[in-house]
Amino acid sequence: MSARNILVINCGSSSLKFALVNEAQATFPLQGLAERLGSPEAVVHWQLGDAKESLNLPGADHREILNHVLPLAQEAAGGQLDGIGHRVVHGGEHFTASSLIDANVLEGIRANAQLAPLHNPANLVGIEAAMALFPGLPQVSVFDTAFHQSMPEHAYRYAVPDFLYKEHGVRRYGFHGTSHRYVSKRAAEMMNLPVEDSSWLSAHLGNGCSTCAIVNGESRDTSMGLTPLEGLVMGTRSGDVDPNLHSHLARTLGWSIEQVDRMLNHDSGLKGLSGLSNDMRTLSEARQAGHPGATLAFEVFCYRLAKSLAGMACGLQKLDGLIFTGGIGENSAAVRERTLDHLKLLGFQLDGEANARCTRGVAGEIQVTGSPRVLVVPTNEERQIALDALALLDA
Ligand code: AMP
Repeated sequence: MSARNILVINCGSSSLKFALVNEAQATFPLQGLAERLGSPEAVVHWQLGDAKESLNLPGADHREILNHVLPLAQEAAGGQLDGIGHRVVHGGEHFTASSLIDANVLEGIRANAQLAPLHNPANLVGIEAAMALFPGLPQVSVFDTAFHQSMPEHAYRYAVPDFLYKEHGVRRYGFHGTSHRYVSKRAAEMMNLPVEDSSWLSAHLGNGCSTCAIVNGESRDTSMGLTPLEGLVMGTRSGDVDPNLHSHLARTLGWSIEQVDRMLNHDSGLKGLSGLSNDMRTLSEARQAGHPGATLAFEVFCYRLAKSLAGMACGLQKLDGLIFTGGIGENSAAVRERTLDHLKLLGFQLDGEANARCTRGVAGEIQVTGSPRVLVVPTNEERQIALDALALLDA
């Protein structure tokens, strides 16, 4: 059998990311991003082999973009596309693993839309458009939440009245599951440890950020909760704040729930603290130049990350390694160093040279001899989605 090809699709409300994953190739034969969908500025950028191209498609929606992407994917796949993998944000308690999409699965995704009102409907648009365009192809949904369904009840319940959980699903779900799952498996492979007898702390640090405790290939706790706002400081998201902040701002400033939600999700985090940018690269440069806001944002980010990792350690009996991943985790030696400065009590000590070397896709161990293991592991959610799709096709 020749190496199979899976088209991976990640639909946001106004964007669509895609990648063609070939099971035998380390790089993607095709990848791209469509942005500002539904507006006059709608545009799709893609890379096919070494060639980069862009096309303005004013007013294009997800379906039109997929119409455009299909021939590209077929070409990149040499005419042999074997399936489509869709990233779906919220699977609620309904989905504990990736699923081959049928009418029941579609209904389950729809039923969870209340938990992810911005994301699940956009994911559904992508799935329905792809099913209409490629009716003969198997389609698979891979949920951000599914990996965390193994959390014990003491980790996933909030201390709020029982009926809010039982009747309304108010609990911690966690996100970034595809990434935490992928990097913890990779870490076990890299260290020659059996996944089913391994324990990891993982920090996925991108625009969204979360930590996870992973035991024997299962999530035992994670920092995100009912929504992806809980936990760490992120690009524009506050992470944890006093839950009374909503009522405080309503009382003192007359803010509505929508205003507070917007502030916490879009105007906070690195952006809010620094007053400069949500982008850690920009902040790292500004911090070097002595920018006080960038320095503060960096310090709060690292301290809160360290605190979260120390808390996640409660989910483990032993530690085989702490994993850094995501754009910041894979590239910022300064964030890794400052975070571990706050974790000296747990014995972490970095090797400066190894830490500086592991950037731009370079994976490896970065601790000194005698310190608990620290690893940089580039994530690859697209590949994990394709691997899940292939496993379901095989089954
Ligand atoms: P992601 O969402 O995983 O693509 O990660 C995006 C984040 O990674 C942004 O905050 C980027 O600024 C950050 N990032 C990428 N490269 C670097 C770098 N060399 N140093 C610091 N942050 C970086």
